[in-house]
Amino acid sequence: MQSELRDLYQEVILDHSKRPRNFGRLGEPTSEARGNNPLCGDRLTVYVTVADGKVTGVSFEGDGCAISKASASVMTEAVAGMTMPEVKALFERFHGVVTGKDGSLDDLDKLAVFAGVAEFPVRVKCATLPWHTLVAALEGAKAAVSTE
Ligand code: ZN
Repeated sequence: MQSELRDLYQEVILDHSKRPRNFGRLGEPTSEARGNNPLCGDRLTVYVTVADGKVTGVSFEGDGCAISKASASVMTEAVAGMTMPEVKALFERFHGVVTGKDGSLDDLDKLAVFAGVAEFPVRVKCATLPWHTLVAALEGAKAAVSTE
């Protein structure tokens, strides 16, 4: 990774983990799901409100490492206003990049910095936990998500 991107990566992770956006329970969520990454100890609940097929509100609460919190925070900003297929497509792209398989997130502003996670395989589950949990909430799954 270029040093410039590495700096940006650290800056965004620090900023969003210290001051997470959309943190706390939504007033009246349409659905919610819990996620757990026992490997690292990350636990979070994602709340989502859907109206006319679009995500009109999304928030999270919980505790975990800086990467899981920052990923959840950036995610809540990224998916606002999206349809469920759009959210799933974005998660697929995100997953491909953080696992180092394929793709690029260069056009996606803050999400792009998570490409850096690919250099730390042990952190991939931290970065993807919020997304797995969001998708579970959107699908109305009652079961809790675990990365194990
Ligand atoms: Zn973690």
